[in-house]
Amino acid sequence: MIHDFCVVGAGIVGLATAAELLRRWPDASVVVLEKEPHVAVHQTGHNSGVIHAGIYYKPGSVKADFCRRGAEATRDFCDQHAIAYETRGKLVVATTQTERQGLDQLEANAHANGIGVEKIDAVELRRREPRLSGLAALFVPETGIVDYSQLCDALSRSLVRAGGELVLGVEVEAISETGSCVIVHAGGRTWRTSNFIACAGLQSDRIARLAGLPVDYRIIPFRGEYYDVVQQERTRVHHLIYPVPSPDLPFLGIHLTPTIHGGLTAGPNAVLGLAREGYRRGSLDIGDVADYLSFPGFWRLLRRHWRSGLGEWKNSLSKPQYVAECRKFLPELKDDDLQPRAAGIRAQAVTRSGDLIHDFLFLDTARMVHVCNAPSPAATSAIPIARHIADLVQKKDALPRSVTVGRQFDDAGLS
Ligand SMILES: Cc1cc2nc3c(=O)[nH]c(=O)nc-3n(C[C@H](O)[C@H](O)[C@H](O)COP(=O)(O)OP(=O)(O)OC[C@H]3O[C@@H](n4cnc5c(N)ncnc54)[C@H](O)[C@@H]3O)c2cc1C
Repeated sequence: MIHDFCVVGAGIVGLATAAELLRRWPDASVVVLEKEPHVAVHQTGHNSGVIHAGIYYKPGSVKADFCRRGAEATRDFCDQHAIAYETRGKLVVATTQTERQGLDQLEANAHANGIGVEKIDAVELRRREPRLSGLAALFVPETGIVDYSQLCDALSRSLVRAGGELVLGVEVEAISETGSCVIVHAGGRTWRTSNFIACAGLQSDRIARLAGLPVDYRIIPFRGEYYDVVQQERTRVHHLIYPVPSPDLPFLGIHLTPTIHGGLTAGPNAVLGLAREGYRRGSLDIGDVADYLSFPGFWRLLRRHWRSGLGEWKNSLSKPQYVAECRKFLPELKDDDLQPRAAGIRAQAVTRSGDLIHDFLFLDTARMVHVCNAPSPAATSAIPIARHIADLVQKKDALPRSVTVGRQFDDAGLS
């Protein structure tokens, strides 16, 4: 049997893509292959759970567009599937004069991206969040919180209900594209498919290389370490609280995020990882480290960003240093208020010239689409990413001819 579509990866991007393909081509045969025993085991299940509004991203970038549309589509999807989310709004807090200027740039960027924001002064900040201290803040009303694992569970159920297949515990080990199909070997079995779509997150460069694509970037893992904040009067906040980020880096700085389950997290930092999928502190995978050490782009990146990298290592190794980052805006926070929580690991693509690829990146061939770089806010943006992949597929000759074209997506999101 030749499948119409084979998707690798049951994170939010792979699952949203499979669901979108079945929505457009309801008669198509769609299989999702995932190496882990559950869905959302990697980035999707280890993130901050933020529905980003889209204030940070370069105007005109794919990220800016997909994030804005994705936030709305995510909320619609949650409404349709009775998944809890809250639109609490976030405060980006400036604590120095330099950061104040950064806030002005962020405000201009938000406006350019069509996101409504409100600049507030120190008095108003104190009125809205009595525990915070800062010179000024940018209020982003549309930012929300959700549990992306719950979205993945709902997407998996929709996929299976619509006739798709989810095969867990099979690792894709070989891929070859021929004139008539793509042959995929995974877990001792072989799948033949008219269209192959890779949404492999931390392994995206390896999957692209396996498929024979000329890959000129490397995924470098950046650990994001979190703490749970013990909730008491001195740590009480309602909004999401962020520092003003460095404009050169795609990481947002250690922030405070209420969780949809009633908790409050501090984090994540962004420490160079020693394993792509090793979540425990001190996890080391020699192959993963050798992979980036042998890549010239890593050394160029290091030369450029060693100072901020060192700062991240410091707050990783020293809890007081980590707490000091949070105390800049939450001054009463004490070391004992933070309890360790599981880390996440970001898949960040880096070019040979040492540039962090900020935007989402897709590569395609006659029968394949590879999602090569889908860092934050790809959880927020998963539905527009899925629609984009379906658009790419729709333009190809490899479209399943035996199946009818379903209704086109609308703004209500995936059903
Ligand atoms: C610490 C952290 C905080 C973040 N916070 C946010 C946030 O608040 N909001 C937001 O929008 N985004 C956030 N992000 C980003 C977001 O989580 C990711 O961009 C998104 O989850 C990427 O989804 P994905 O499906 O591409 O990757 P993943 O969730 O990593 O899924 C990829 C899947 O592919 C599978 N796979 C890989 N190789 C193979 C193979 N050979 N065979 C079979 N299966 C394979 C993996 O096992 C995995 O399940 C955060 C990320 C991190 C790490």
